[in-house]
Amino acid sequence: MKALTYHGSKDVRVETVPDPRIVEADDILLRVTATAICGSDLHLYHGKIPETKHGDIFGHEFMGVVEEAGPGVTEVSVGDRVVIPFVIACGHCFFCELEQYAACETTNPDQGASLRKRAMMTPPAALFGYSHLYGGVPGGQAEFVRVPKANVGPFVIPGSLDDERVLFLSDILPTGYQAVLNAKIGPGSSVAIFGAGPVGLMSAACARMLGAERIFIVDDEPYRLDFAAATYGAIPIDFSKVDSSEAILEKTHGRGVDASIDAVGFEAKGSTVETVMSTLKLETSSGEVIRQCIAATRRGGIVSIPGVYAGFIHGFLLGDAFDKGLTLAMGQTHVQKYLPELLDAIEDGRLQPDVIISHRMKLADAARGYDVFDAKKEDCRKVVLTP
Ligand code: NAD
Ligand code: ZN
Ligand code: ZN
Repeated sequence: MKALTYHGSKDVRVETVPDPRIVEADDILLRVTATAICGSDLHLYHGKIPETKHGDIFGHEFMGVVEEAGPGVTEVSVGDRVVIPFVIACGHCFFCELEQYAACETTNPDQGASLRKRAMMTPPAALFGYSHLYGGVPGGQAEFVRVPKANVGPFVIPGSLDDERVLFLSDILPTGYQAVLNAKIGPGSSVAIFGAGPVGLMSAACARMLGAERIFIVDDEPYRLDFAAATYGAIPIDFSKVDSSEAILEKTHGRGVDASIDAVGFEAKGSTVETVMSTLKLETSSGEVIRQCIAATRRGGIVSIPGVYAGFIHGFLLGDAFDKGLTLAMGQTHVQKYLPELLDAIEDGRLQPDVIISHRMKLADAARGYDVFDAKKEDCRKVVLTP
């Protein structure tokens, strides 16, 4: 089959690789009908995630049709259309019982990205197509995928909804949703979203749905800011022109917003010192957006961090966070938990995640898709690939 494979920083190729097959009794084999490129894939693409090996198949946002099912699969049948959560969870361990699927302690033989490993520490869940820190499981930017734990992950989609409307249930929609739930957004809330990429846009959509009154959105890509303003009524702030937290404080009586959402993560632009430090490997992540979030949030407010971090940052103002009595919430998304309610919201039109799609390409052109999305060419917001 054809799949998108890694060969080094900014070198990905669609190649012929061996077909996957069923290994465990509760596996399915999925024929992929649609898959997307995520901002998290860009961290892999930049060669920034350790334990990414030549030939690894990327892709963790995908859906398709069940082609074959192992003898232990009871929850889906051959021919079903399903969306696959990017988190692989067993459904019955300590963390799965708590619905904290991204912490599933049974699916990942590796240790995750923690720098302070403890022999006794439980690993995070395995993820599709996300390095050997997260299980080394081949991803879904491919014609076929082996899906483990098929009685827990695959989510059946009613025939009436086409792929583009439901594909983002695999990752960015529940990620935006968990980010606003963690931020405790409700009617009348004010929120500042840093990053107007797909995750920032899904956060804005979910914040609107839950009744937020004022949504600020921060980026330096004018076309992304314009889209967020036009689609979600967000107030755009261009951080290349103004200091973003200053601008937000000015518009909120000096108090700040109820909550900030960091939808950028560790490759944040904007701090020359940190760009140099991470190049010299004196730090692994840029703390630029975390600092802005802490500064833009009111006393007693919440900083919610869906953006991915790895390792350590300098200049983390814990004292400011303490002084303001902030709550910090973060982590990978517990995708499985949110799917029924998000599907309802799509079905009744409260959410239309597909409006952010700007590029539709064949899987064969996936390498160009990475380049366009990464370099923000052609006003790219989100790329969907079809085999
Ligand atoms: P993206 O790269 O398309 O978007 C990031 C946006 O942030 C870009 O538009 C960029 O211009 C902007 N940006 C860069 N520096 C900034 C700064 N200093 N201030 C404000 N904006 C800045 O990616 P995406 O798909 O939207 O993903 C965003 C983050 O969310 C990534 O780190 C990704 O890995 C992470 N993510 C996490 C989860 C999860 O489970 N927690 C799931 C999906 C994605
Ligand atoms: Zn993702
Ligand atoms: Zn589990």
